[in-house]
Amino acid sequence: MKISRILSEKDFVISFEFFPPKKVENEKILFNTIEVLKGYNPDFVSVTYGAGGSTKDKTIDWTIKIKEQYNLNVMMHLTCVTSSRDDVDEILTVLQEHNIDNILALRGDIPKDQENIKADFKYAYQLVEYIKNKNFFSIGVAGYPEGHIESASLEKDIEFLKMKVDAGADFIITQLFFDNKYFFDFLDRAEKIGINVPILPGIMPVINLNQVKRFTEMCGATVPDSLIKKLENKSEEDMFKIGIEYAINQCKELIEANVKGLHFYTLNKYNATTNILEGLGYVPKSL
Ligand code: FAD
Repeated sequence: MKISRILSEKDFVISFEFFPPKKVENEKILFNTIEVLKGYNPDFVSVTYGAGGSTKDKTIDWTIKIKEQYNLNVMMHLTCVTSSRDDVDEILTVLQEHNIDNILALRGDIPKDQENIKADFKYAYQLVEYIKNKNFFSIGVAGYPEGHIESASLEKDIEFLKMKVDAGADFIITQLFFDNKYFFDFLDRAEKIGINVPILPGIMPVINLNQVKRFTEMCGATVPDSLIKKLENKSEEDMFKIGIEYAINQCKELIEANVKGLHFYTLNKYNATTNILEGLGYVPKSL
């Protein structure tokens, strides 16, 4: 089902993001994660696209597999900076054949090897425009509460986000953030510039300090000093507890502010996400 339709019918949605495992032995972990998280009745789940299209076939396979084996509503991520129009057409045709009607249209990170850059799509808004013309897909795009790492300013960043919406994006999913202040400011900027599509906050609990430092260095999200202090010199088990408690409070504040939903970056594990959902009062269907 088109996510645009779900968002127009429901006040609040829950979604989970997965990535296609590189190693065969990790596939079992993802199957298990999907099995558990399916119990929370997600409105959709999404499958990421490896940088530079490195997971193209696996991403398509998992997208189809999740829809057909688990009967879940799926969105495939698609990056364009290393894709030609023909590459994109080939993928869209396969998705259409399998009735996958949701795409997160992304530029992707600029590859170090300039030879891999193709000229057809320089920015995500061009991919949005292209997919929109197919008249088949519901299209999501990425938003950055703290600004995209390459952005000259927050003002420019929101102008470019508006271009993606004007090109046909139906909804926005944000980069992870740990301080809701950035998200609320982002909502204000979006409203002021006339962005009126639903915006889903991306949630990733901090359950391991080193891992989060790595992620945030890559994407520029700020981890509050107070949280870092709480996590320092703690055992894995304590970091998990502190991170989950922090994420539950973060989500509660977002829900109180009437957000349209929560999109969880699961990293293919269910434990953190189920703990947060249970902290928010969700009970899995099977219980
Ligand atoms: P764009 O919206 O095109 O923006 C890229 C940069 O160009 C920004 O700095 C923007 O401000 C600037 N810009 C935009 N338009 C213009 C213009 N007209 N003129 C000048 N500058 C402009 N990456 C993956 O590889 N695979 C994934 O599966 C994936 N999933 C993601 C999911 C979410 C929810 C998010 C938030 C990010 C995801 N990413 C993924 C990361 C994303 O690909 C990178 O952040 C990438 O660097 C930017 O992609 P974009 O679609 O936001 O690009």
